Amino acid sequence: MKFIHEKFLLHSRTADKLYHRYAEPEPIFDYHCHLPPGDIAANRQFKNLFEIWLEGDHYKWRAMRANGVAEDFCTGKTEPFEKFRAWAATVPHTLRNPLYHWTHLELSRYFGIDELLDEESSARIWKEANRQLATPALSAQGILKKFHVTALCTTDDPSDDLRAHEKLAASGLTTGVYPAFRPDKALLVNDPARFNEWLAKLEAAAGCDIATLDDLLEALERRHQYFHDHGCRLSDHGLTQCFATPCGDKAAAGIFARARKGKAATPEEHAGFATHLMLFFGRLDARRQWVKQLHLGALRSANSRLFARVGPDTGFDSIGDLPQAAALATYLDLLDRDGNLPRIIVYNLNPADNYVFATMLGNFNDGSIAGKVQMGSGWWFLDQKEGMEWQLNALSNNGLLSRFVGMVTDSRSFMSYPRHEYFRRTLCNLIGRDVENGELPDDETLLGPLVRNICHANAVSFLRLPPLSNKSGAGAVKKPGSATRRGS
Ligand SMILES: [Zn+2]
Repeated sequence: MKFIHEKFLLHSRTADKLYHRYAEPEPIFDYHCHLPPGDIAANRQFKNLFEIWLEGDHYKWRAMRANGVAEDFCTGKTEPFEKFRAWAATVPHTLRNPLYHWTHLELSRYFGIDELLDEESSARIWKEANRQLATPALSAQGILKKFHVTALCTTDDPSDDLRAHEKLAASGLTTGVYPAFRPDKALLVNDPARFNEWLAKLEAAAGCDIATLDDLLEALERRHQYFHDHGCRLSDHGLTQCFATPCGDKAAAGIFARARKGKAATPEEHAGFATHLMLFFGRLDARRQWVKQLHLGALRSANSRLFARVGPDTGFDSIGDLPQAAALATYLDLLDRDGNLPRIIVYNLNPADNYVFATMLGNFNDGSIAGKVQMGSGWWFLDQKEGMEWQLNALSNNGLLSRFVGMVTDSRSFMSYPRHEYFRRTLCNLIGRDVENGELPDDETLLGPLVRNICHANAVSFLRLPPLSNKSGAGAVKKPGSATRRGS
């Protein structure tokens, strides 16, 4: 039997039935990813398996380093095939790591390759995959079609021009490619060099000078509107923990003025300024009825020697353990009490905090919208079978699984779409097990729609993206909440 077979991860009759009847046919709505929109617009054709699979994948680099593979074969200058072979030789050492599952699921779903990857099979698999990568079916847009991706949201800085999104909107591509607004750099008053460099870009994008805090807020407001006009309905923030110490307008203006002149904010000033901005962003999102996302809890760049050598986002980040509850409560409450809490998805990185997040988020559901405050899917280190089960269990035990907006790839790679299949199998397996144990009714009219909605429909109605035909640069869609379900 093939390793990745029909019943992979499905350990009961009910799980198998739920998956194949209700989960598998659903299209994909990938509302949080990091795909470069330029690659989609250019319909990038990947030269080889290295380019599409290994080029930016820090999960693989971590495993290779752990397996004693030198940095030159990870992020260095070694030839693509040699890097691939080093990865292939590492794969048998990844047994029980999710990489082993992902690797074979991806080879199977993209190329129909069911052979196990190792050093011996590496040249054969390289050749066959590269042959197929040269075909239109596996171009960037071909892949979106192959995996029935109805829509995806990229991750974009407020200073981005969204030219690729404009091109895509006019292209007739049936996958909706929407921007998402990620203004993390607006908080960088503790790092004036990077802050001012970013402000120069923002000035150019917004078409105004930014001399004061009021100017900054005006520029961000303009960019928020610009993103809205390009179909954006989603913001995102990556924070170690929420900022929850408001400093007031005057203090924030002073901190901004000093950073503008090159003087770094103290940690207290930074927290006050960041809170000020995060409340501002909350109000912007609430006003235009966007969904906000918070990604909380990473500890980044722990290894200073290797960080200095290969830079950020290369596999030297891990799970942080800062306390989350009080700061998250304060931030959500500050928005909520003024009527400015948008629909929100909060992703947690520390599994020890799953119940903290699941219970905290429940405090801010007010009956106005079903599933208003969402606990996001298993993120980053938790994006695997056990992590997903932990998230699904914490959510089920403290909230409503039926309102869950489901999985995202959160990926920079076009090879990550099988993550949705992996999640769906895990979800169906969990529910199937409860049915077989007599803890859920064996009733397809109850369970079928539950599964189907978590796979696709809940996210579609939660995100309220404008319809594809109305999404373009000039022909702005200004009416919020005008569309729910998008065709496949
Ligand atoms: Zn992300």
